[in-house]
Amino acid sequence: MIYDITPPITDALEVWPGDTPPSREVLLDMKRGANPTLSTLHATVHLGAHADGPSHYGKDAPGIDGRALDDYLGPCQVVRVSVGPRELITPAHVPAEIRAERVLFRTGTFPDPNHFRQDFAALAPELVGHLRARGVRLVGIDTPSVDLFDAEELPAHHACLRHDMAILEGVVLDGVPEGVYELIALPLKLVGFDASPVRAILRTLPVPGDHS
Ligand SMILES: [Zn+2]
Repeated sequence: MIYDITPPITDALEVWPGDTPPSREVLLDMKRGANPTLSTLHATVHLGAHADGPSHYGKDAPGIDGRALDDYLGPCQVVRVSVGPRELITPAHVPAEIRAERVLFRTGTFPDPNHFRQDFAALAPELVGHLRARGVRLVGIDTPSVDLFDAEELPAHHACLRHDMAILEGVVLDGVPEGVYELIALPLKLVGFDASPVRAILRTLPVPGDHS
């Protein structure tokens, strides 16, 4: 079974204030007699479900193409945390046992990708080192940022830079039960870019011993 944890990319999707919303420019249209249909996408690379590249928050850090693909592919634990608006997820919110190298947090504080609200929850910077010490290589969240909206110093992003932690933002985890899945969320090979949109999915793992 597959959970598609990617919000639909339409012109209704609301991106970060000031960033470039998605739009489709149709160059050729078969409905108007052209052959074939051809269009151009204009959008921020921080579009919907996306992977941040280290160059987004580190001056001399590599772009999204510099990250290992293994970060975005493999066992992944979904953790539901009970946090309110503008609250930080701390190590106290995290279960004692981390069961995968990738962890996605469902906060429920950014319920509609088509309505950008600024009071979403985020990661406490000390959580990043806590997860790294438990073998985690990717952290993801169901909000537009691992930092709070008005966190100008981006402390959680910088903690990810220090700990070489991959970041997935903007995933939709409604209806995904807690548990361990296979994550597939490969970034495009956008050389030198500061992020890439991803088609993020969670696939249920086969139950051991079940050959049906
Ligand atoms: Zn980010």
